[in-house]
Amino acid sequence: MNNTSTYYAGLDIGGTTVKAVLVDHLSQQVGPLTEVRSKVKDGYEGTFDQLDLALDQLAAGAGVARGAIAGIGLDVPAPSSDGVIWGRANLGDNWVGTDIRGKLSTRTGVPVFMTNDGNAAALGEYALRHDNNGSLMLVAPGTGLGAGLVLPGGRSYEGANGLALETGHISVPFREDDGELPSCSCGLKGCAEAWVSLMALRRRLRLQLAKPEWSSHPLNQDDTPVEEKAFKLRDFAEKGDALAIQLFKQQGFILGYAIADMVRTIDPGLVVIGGGLAETTFRDSFMKWILEGFAERAWPAYQHNPLNPDIVTTRFEWALGGDAAAAIGMAYTACELAQGATR
Ligand SMILES: [Zn+2]
Repeated sequence: MNNTSTYYAGLDIGGTTVKAVLVDHLSQQVGPLTEVRSKVKDGYEGTFDQLDLALDQLAAGAGVARGAIAGIGLDVPAPSSDGVIWGRANLGDNWVGTDIRGKLSTRTGVPVFMTNDGNAAALGEYALRHDNNGSLMLVAPGTGLGAGLVLPGGRSYEGANGLALETGHISVPFREDDGELPSCSCGLKGCAEAWVSLMALRRRLRLQLAKPEWSSHPLNQDDTPVEEKAFKLRDFAEKGDALAIQLFKQQGFILGYAIADMVRTIDPGLVVIGGGLAETTFRDSFMKWILEGFAERAWPAYQHNPLNPDIVTTRFEWALGGDAAAAIGMAYTACELAQGATR
């Protein structure tokens, strides 16, 4: 096959939408980002129909034949190993135990590469930086606290069982006002995700609003559920609201702590912060709070080279890829791996 006329698709399956990107044989994006509904709750067959639709739209948008797509990179919001989904997460029941990678490859007739959403976003950030010698750890606060690690050369680190980088569930030394460790969605207590996530923000907001000092806060005059109120906190923080700032400051600081322990384990050199906070006007403050937490927990050598203090040993950057990072990462990976397999 003539490699210059082949294309590679990245498909990022989320809870509500599939985001899709097409790249050429040099990993350059062609055509626009495509988005279709994911319908994951209806079972994987329904989602496969949507993936077909996304592939058709990608080809049409780039003006190439659908048959020119020679490889697919796919990421799913759930743990998997060798293309088989291990846990339900945000998916429907029939995804679990299914060889998604194998079935999609049979259906499309092209090789499929698969990982989870955290690794996919990390691969996207790696691809966008064009630095094949470095490594990169992505940490993305969102509904939960996702993470991914890309090693020098551009491969994500999956672990022996596809279970690596569950960074949201490392324990952090922080307690609620009553001395208890907060419960995490995973069933454990005291996880980083129980402090740094949308779920954590809801809990912390509810606790704070019950305190006399915030009795006249506008969110206490608002009778919408706390889930809705938590969504409003970004707007409040952007306007300098003291309660919102306090809540995000705590999240940033504790995130810095968690990152320090991860950096101590893997020393990635570059930490990329993803998730929706990258789009806010208070992101510089949020990064400062992360660095304050990091500085308190990480030894000086993880901050500056002891022999040359001008050299920063762990750099922090905001994500570049936004919503499209995971799809870009999977298109890039499909291009690299599919061509590598035929070289
Ligand atoms: Zn947990």
